[in-house]
Amino acid sequence: MNLIVQKYGGTSIGSVERVQTVAQRIHKIAQKGNKVVVVVSAMGKTTDTLVKLASEITSSPCRREMDMLLSTGEQVSIALMSIALQELGQPAISLTGAQVGIITEAEHSRARILSINPHRIQRHLDRGEVVVVAGFQGISDGTDLEITTLGRGGSDTSAVAIAASLKANCCEIYTDVPGILTTDPRLVPDAQLINEITCDEMLELASLGAKVLHPRAVELARNYGIPLVVRSSWSDTPGTRVISPTPKPRYIDKLELTKSVDGINFDSDQAKIALLRVPNSPGVAARIFGEIASQQLDVDLIIQSIHENNSNDIAFTVSKNVLNKAEAIVEAIAPALRNSPTNNDEAEVLIEKGAAKIAIVGAGMIGRPGIAAKMFKTLADAQVNIEMIATSEVKVSCVISPNNSNRAIDALSKAFDVQLSETPIASNLVQVSPHVRGVALDTKQVQIALLSVQDCPGMAAKIFGTLADKNISVDTIIQSQRCRIINGMPTSDIVFTVSQEDLQAVHTSLDILSGSFTEVITDIEIAKVSIVGAGMLGQPGIAAKYFGALAEQGINIKMIATSEIKISCVVAKAEGIKALKAVHKAFELTEQETSKISVL
Ligand code: ADP
Ligand code: ASP
Ligand code: MG
Repeated sequence: MNLIVQKYGGTSIGSVERVQTVAQRIHKIAQKGNKVVVVVSAMGKTTDTLVKLASEITSSPCRREMDMLLSTGEQVSIALMSIALQELGQPAISLTGAQVGIITEAEHSRARILSINPHRIQRHLDRGEVVVVAGFQGISDGTDLEITTLGRGGSDTSAVAIAASLKANCCEIYTDVPGILTTDPRLVPDAQLINEITCDEMLELASLGAKVLHPRAVELARNYGIPLVVRSSWSDTPGTRVISPTPKPRYIDKLELTKSVDGINFDSDQAKIALLRVPNSPGVAARIFGEIASQQLDVDLIIQSIHENNSNDIAFTVSKNVLNKAEAIVEAIAPALRNSPTNNDEAEVLIEKGAAKIAIVGAGMIGRPGIAAKMFKTLADAQVNIEMIATSEVKVSCVISPNNSNRAIDALSKAFDVQLSETPIASNLVQVSPHVRGVALDTKQVQIALLSVQDCPGMAAKIFGTLADKNISVDTIIQSQRCRIINGMPTSDIVFTVSQEDLQAVHTSLDILSGSFTEVITDIEIAKVSIVGAGMLGQPGIAAKYFGALAEQGINIKMIATSEIKISCVVAKAEGIKALKAVHKAFELTEQETSKISVL
């Protein structure tokens, strides 16, 4: 007898008829002898409607009252679903988050789950009842028993957390699309179904705009090794399997509060090349990385950001043994960039022969802005200067001088209580995977540039620590390679993106820091287009193909940020969908073949 947790999203239960159709599906599964726990969201657009009601009263409602309001949506669904099941002759009972004992932090509107009491659910299952649980909500620990919610889209997380606490055989997420697709089918109609995807890839995609799964649900599935499937509510097609590496043993009583950092990766075999003051016009990145790819050289991290006089800096790392070749290519291109009509400055090539990359890894850092800040602070306290920063959802990498390696490793191991681990996350899986698994568009971000930030150890820690204190998650941090002397002090620029929702809070925080930089430039007209795939690791030419696809459409790149398994480009918002379509096509995702992942 299998124990299955099924989650049905708002789109799947948008009307009473749909509730009845879903009830029939659940009834069939239960009749086959399975124990079934059903997690439901609010019907259709109910949550949005409730948000709108509050916004008619005030633009800044109290988060506690919003939780009280929004949690009602799921309560309607559980009762109707249970009634529909009972009407089919299927014994069923509806339970709220509090009744099931979903205990969370007291952090309204974004609470993390601490524990779930499995006994009540178990008791009803043993009586042959289907248990229908309200997703998205919980109750705070302590004496006040406050109703909390997990954050928009959080029912996925409720479902996986329940599956983990019940040690269910699998967790199925039912939705209005056939599974996880190569991109959002609402934007690119010929997006294709992905049969299998690794948790690491899905974490990136979900955090970069693919809202089909709540990233924290993927984090839980990954940490506890829960077999997770995303499927259509309307058909019996198998959907997408989200594959976890073999999990490490963990305590179920701290569900979402497990250690945020699992390990430290280190690579001392790197070299860095920076091209300063290249023209800010379409095709420049495509040209540089096109030449590099034509020599079959693999590039690791790439960053690009715009600076004064409308010119760009591009920096990237390669493995030391190909530095000479890469340097020759860049030196050969530089004169042409210097003579470009749009370039007022001189393009300059900087080479650093020895560079080391140190990274902290762990799915628990998602949505915890303090982790990156803690890394920067730890390195600053150990007198380690950070030369380049690359962030992904599950990893923060810093390029440092190899002379500082031992100090950096020691300090980070102590600060995060972890060991140096040789293996990058992705190598836990044997893959025959496409280079790019999927692409995502995020139009809800803003780009913030801090100009002439004093360039001394501890500055990144100070800036991102202040933002973290306000619970602001920063994505895509870029520290410029260009140094300007102001009042005898070296300065450089720092550019990052944050969610639009946090813009006001960012400005308030930056006010506290004024004096540490000369100017703040905010660009809200941006779109972030990202390609994700564990198969791009060690594969030359992926970046070149991506930048080439944008150049062909005449799309200018405002910012580039990469991690090992993703490349994100910031472009003008008006060009976001065009860029998404171009990239989706360039990587032939419309013709994707079935790919299999097997766990070691
Ligand atoms: P639910 O109500 O079931 O939770 P959501 O609206 O949260 O549904 O998520 C499903 C939607 O996610 C789809 O309708 C689709 O438009 C969107 N989506 C975005 N990116 C992707 C993707 N890569 N694959 C599938 N769906 C995606
Ligand atoms: N109803 C909530 C929302 O709309 C939770 C969810 O759907 O997962 O965000
Ligand atoms: Mg959802």
